[in-house]
Amino acid sequence: MIPLAVPDLSGDEAANLQTCIDTTFVSSVGPFVTRFESEFAIRHGVETGVATGAGTLALHAGLMVLGVDRDDLVLVPSFTFIASVNAIAHCGAHPWFVDIEPESWTMCPIALERALAAGTMRAPNGDLIHHETGRRVSAILPVYTLGTPAKMSAIREIASTYRLPMLADAAAAVGATYEGHPLGGLAELSAFSFNGNKTLTTGGGGMLIGPEKDLLAKARHLTTTARVSSDYEHDRVGYNYRMTNVQAALGCAQLARLDGFLLAKRVIRTRYDAAFADLEGAAFPDPDWAGSGCWFSGRVLAADSRRDVRTVCRQLADCGIEARSFWKPVHLQIPYAQCPREALPVTESLWWRVVTLPCSVGLTERDQARVIDAVRSALS
Ligand SMILES: *Cc1c(COP(=O)(O)O)cnc(C)c1O
Repeated sequence: MIPLAVPDLSGDEAANLQTCIDTTFVSSVGPFVTRFESEFAIRHGVETGVATGAGTLALHAGLMVLGVDRDDLVLVPSFTFIASVNAIAHCGAHPWFVDIEPESWTMCPIALERALAAGTMRAPNGDLIHHETGRRVSAILPVYTLGTPAKMSAIREIASTYRLPMLADAAAAVGATYEGHPLGGLAELSAFSFNGNKTLTTGGGGMLIGPEKDLLAKARHLTTTARVSSDYEHDRVGYNYRMTNVQAALGCAQLARLDGFLLAKRVIRTRYDAAFADLEGAAFPDPDWAGSGCWFSGRVLAADSRRDVRTVCRQLADCGIEARSFWKPVHLQIPYAQCPREALPVTESLWWRVVTLPCSVGLTERDQARVIDAVRSALS
């Protein structure tokens, strides 16, 4: 079976894990954690990071630090992994769904602006209030879909007009760039994931980075039980969200190989796109203002295709190839079906046509050729 996405752990991963055991630093304090935070932040153009046990935890901590509170609304695309929205719900807040744009599959700045202009008013106390629900709007959460940054110049301008902070869900965008720059400074905070199927993995893990040191200090405080001294004193309800030294040991080894991983992902993307150029349907978006991390690659079926994603995946499975559908939008998920939303025409016409194909960083050219042949015969 050719798997969809499996990690490559053939570098210093094993040696680093052995170091954890030899030194007994296996828990949430240790030299690998500090090193991983610092090297990861620097790689993304900022100085400080706060490592967490998962990407979802980084998202939740980030929203809390930005002041998202119970009953608030947070603007977010519906076309995302449900974890982006779960993090909003974990704050006791609610999503306000906006559409994506077709050329990047990321939050549409025009839709965002229109939603804010038509749907909100400024209360006397300065809060931005959503007409329809009366809720306070407290943040914008753009998602870097498939490792492609959102149009952050435009989104940042809107955020500043409406005085809203931004947390970027950069979960799958490790190593990506925006207009030639690293991602760390694009939003007040950016959250990454190191889950097993991401480009860089720590087994499970996450990280918050950003340009403002005081926000990250707050995040560190909140994610380490809000401890104010080593004498078991705490000044608020805190969280045990820290990454362990064992996870960070993997992270350091993986980070040293990131350029190779990104190149492999890019080569895989280019080969698929070239091989399928004459078939029905479309390639995954790859806008030139973004240096996408190409987290996943695959194919978008034509809207009038005689096949559907499930049939194609089943056919590929019969050839020993793991292919999968992609995110079902969050406004169609049971817990979020009643949440406020704008018109979502791009999301609704897209999501059911996306097939993701094997794209592990270790995928051989020979195995990819097998996938290509199987896809070509499934689609023609
Ligand atoms: C993977 C992913 C997450 C969740 O990260 P975990 O580490 O699994 O908690 C959140 N958002 C997006 C867009 C993701 O792709």
